[in-house]
Amino acid sequence: MQALKTREFPPIRGIISDLDGVAYRGDTAIPSSVRAFRTWHEQGMPYAFVTNNSTKSAAQFAAKLTGIGIPAEPEQVFNTISAATALLARRWPQGTPVFAIGEQPLLAAIEAAGYDLNAADPEVVVLGFDSTLDYAKLRTAIRAALAGATIIATNPDVLTPVHDGYDPCVGVLTAAVIAAVPSVTPTVVGKPHPFLIEQALEYLGTAKHETIMIGDQLATDIAAGNAAGLRSILLASDVPFNLATDVIPHRVISTLLDLLDAAPGSAVPPS
Ligand SMILES: [Mg+2]
Repeated sequence: MQALKTREFPPIRGIISDLDGVAYRGDTAIPSSVRAFRTWHEQGMPYAFVTNNSTKSAAQFAAKLTGIGIPAEPEQVFNTISAATALLARRWPQGTPVFAIGEQPLLAAIEAAGYDLNAADPEVVVLGFDSTLDYAKLRTAIRAALAGATIIATNPDVLTPVHDGYDPCVGVLTAAVIAAVPSVTPTVVGKPHPFLIEQALEYLGTAKHETIMIGDQLATDIAAGNAAGLRSILLASDVPFNLATDVIPHRVISTLLDLLDAAPGSAVPPS
């Protein structure tokens, strides 16, 4: 296909996008985003998704996207489950005792990677999103941190957008552990670290300067896109914490349809 051109940018030949707050909010699709991705799919524009969300496997995210009308295969989705297990595999041998707070897909992936989730005295604590977080889990994490365990957080987000507002996210849990054990420095594997974007870029096989990173949060999506050397595009929203950052996107849009401002197949940008 011919690359999309916009007034501000050289051609776009690959698209990497955040999920929550861009494709959907919670379980509610964002219709303009669905239309944009359907158009890109029809045009043969390669795209991939990067999400800090660790509550679903890549296959589950792909099914969710397909369910709301955005064609997606599991290979197109890069999330903090695979990022966390990749970090574990790089730094700790299989069999290492790990305590994880998270939902079943994260726990299953850590276990499938060969780590012992049931041992006493964990050497590593993985903090992920857990809608059933309770005092006992927090206590186990904090006791492990006090005993010197390494802390890995799937993502730094303090809030996550849902259909009727925002819910507390992993950053709140991480802050609780740091409040109890100020000496710990958690390793965060999700955005703003560029790891997920680098994985997605490798999948797309496109050049950095021709690939865009779309997100709704400056401190994570846009910071990660900039760190990875991509052109970053902020989907403007009511995200309440976007003001508290000095991260600058390359472009701000109000809907993904703004990126379709060249006719499909057109090589000439509109004037
Ligand atoms: Mg988001």
